Amino acid sequence: MRYLSTRGQAPDLAFDDVVLAGLAGDGGLYLPASYPNVAAEDISRLAGLPYAAAAARLIAPFVDGAGRDALEAAAAAAYAGFSHAAVAPLTQIGDNLFVLELFHGPTLAFKDLAMQLLGRLMNHVLRERGLRATIVGATSGDTGAAAIEAFRGQDAVDVFILYPDGRVSDVQRRQMTTVADSNVHTLAINGSFDDAQAILKSLFRDAAWRARLGLAGVNSINWARVVAQMVYYFTSGVSLGAPHRKISFAVPTGNFGDVLAGYVAKRMGLPVERLIVATNANDILARALATGRYEPRGVTPTQSPSMDIQVSSNFERLLFDATGRDAATTRAAFASLEQSGGFDIPAGALEAIRADFDAHAVGEAETTSEIARTWRESGYVLDPHTATGVSAARARLAEDPSTPVVALATAHPAKFPDAIEHAIGRRPAPPDRLKPILAASERFARIESDVARVKSFIEENARAARVLAKA
Ligand SMILES: *Cc1c(COP(=O)(O)O)cnc(C)c1O
Repeated sequence: MRYLSTRGQAPDLAFDDVVLAGLAGDGGLYLPASYPNVAAEDISRLAGLPYAAAAARLIAPFVDGAGRDALEAAAAAAYAGFSHAAVAPLTQIGDNLFVLELFHGPTLAFKDLAMQLLGRLMNHVLRERGLRATIVGATSGDTGAAAIEAFRGQDAVDVFILYPDGRVSDVQRRQMTTVADSNVHTLAINGSFDDAQAILKSLFRDAAWRARLGLAGVNSINWARVVAQMVYYFTSGVSLGAPHRKISFAVPTGNFGDVLAGYVAKRMGLPVERLIVATNANDILARALATGRYEPRGVTPTQSPSMDIQVSSNFERLLFDATGRDAATTRAAFASLEQSGGFDIPAGALEAIRADFDAHAVGEAETTSEIARTWRESGYVLDPHTATGVSAARARLAEDPSTPVVALATAHPAKFPDAIEHAIGRRPAPPDRLKPILAASERFARIESDVARVKSFIEENARAARVLAKA
């Protein structure tokens, strides 16, 4: 499978190169040249397969020859550490309303499902090529912990995660700072998440430094993450009767990676009725679908911080497809976003997007009352991110009660105990795997919000830099 950049000005790459590259050299995102088709009888054959086996089977067509053997072992290892045998179990909480639990991985959020696999695939590619990589990421919460868990102890990789000091939850911070492996470095930046993100962008823009350190990106635009997330749409769809029955999905959305994976599943042949984008008060996607104008506003902090995002990077992939893979139009749209703060989605593309997607913004009060309602009616505790999805799912069921809706449960409620207590008057019990983290000692470096200081910290601690210094 070859991969194309959405901006049409970077070379086509093979899967392994796309895994390492993350972002394309022209600023675009990589997409496969075509979507492999899964025939109805092959969808039926997924029933009863272990999750890892279903993943290897569905992802294989995206991976080039040699990597396919590694894929099976990587998937088996990636999902072996999940605390539920089904990996991503479904729970029914109402008539035709289901919750897909994606929080049984090591950091209790759905990002583990993709990051655990990406970590192993990346390590495999690096080993094959005899390379080292330096992973640098900025996090406002869940991504940093998931990346650390995925890469800790891996000999070809050093991980540096920047987070804004004092602005992540206690659980989120401890998940990053209590990891003892010497290849993991957590940097508390004296500044905001935007400052951390700005430092990260400058590091990636310095081409010579980037090459010297073997800088690699693991944020949600990495194609391997999208393709790993496609799997649970199939497995949950099959549990509910696919390929013989249509299913809708409601997806708590920030950077648009997770819901894009649902779109990929649909393009591969899964009978998806609607993809419902749930946003919190940061409703750029709901506004874009309603008005056709994609225009970020300031970020409002909410009780679902992992969705507090202004620019949903993966939306670029959808726009590229919706314009009939018109790279010039996609390029112009994102140039306009940078220069004048927004763009108008071309009419034909907007129509194509609306054929697959709905969007629903869920405010803070509605999120709290959804947590309370689901607890009252079903005895089930939703985390605040998942609550936006369930609320959007209920709105959909009011219009179309006959198609099952799966709401993706993206985090365990124990990650957000304050929001839960506010909604239902009690704190969720921490799951067993959280208990040692709450007691362990923390290790992190406090550092000024300054590119030069972050650079020298990374140079002192990255093994890739040392190997090259000796050479
Ligand atoms: C990252 C995250 C999201 C948003 O997912 P995207 O792929 O960025 O749209 C939603 N919920 C939780 C708990 C997350 O960690």
